[in-house]
Amino acid sequence: MHSFLSTLLGWLGLAPPRLRCRAAIWDEGVQELARRTLGGRRESGAYLLGRHRSDGSRDVLDFIYYDDIDPEALSTGIVTIRQTALPRLWEICRQRGYGVVADVHVHPGGYGQSESDMANPVMPRAGHIALILPHFARNGPRPGAIGIFEFLGNGQWAVHSGKGRKFFQVGG
Ligand SMILES: [Zn+2]
Repeated sequence: MHSFLSTLLGWLGLAPPRLRCRAAIWDEGVQELARRTLGGRRESGAYLLGRHRSDGSRDVLDFIYYDDIDPEALSTGIVTIRQTALPRLWEICRQRGYGVVADVHVHPGGYGQSESDMANPVMPRAGHIALILPHFARNGPRPGAIGIFEFLGNGQWAVHSGKGRKFFQVGG
């Protein structure tokens, strides 16, 4: 039923976005990711925490930066998350009553997925959304100019980047 309704609303152009974030939270988080690249010397990234809505949409409410969870996460220049860091993440989720609704990381150049990004989803469960910000997140990128990827399981991804704010609404 839910998927039929989603499909119907999609035909009518009324489907809710899959992901939403208030502009102030997004812009501050993106600026902080840019700052943590140390002027473009390394990549940075964050878990996006929030809540699911009853319409299937997910609200991003907080950025949890990888290097706050694991001080070594950015030390090789590309994001590397050790499994030993995850208990800290779960503790933060539990304290705030949030779940991981997506993840985001920056690239030096374009926002396409690397082979490593495709092979190593941050949350390896179907429906997880991974965002990629181009050019070390300089100039405050927003949906329409970022990579938006949905993990489908078994190494497969759907690309939603071209849907921009219809898929990921920043604002309000
Ligand atoms: Zn990447």
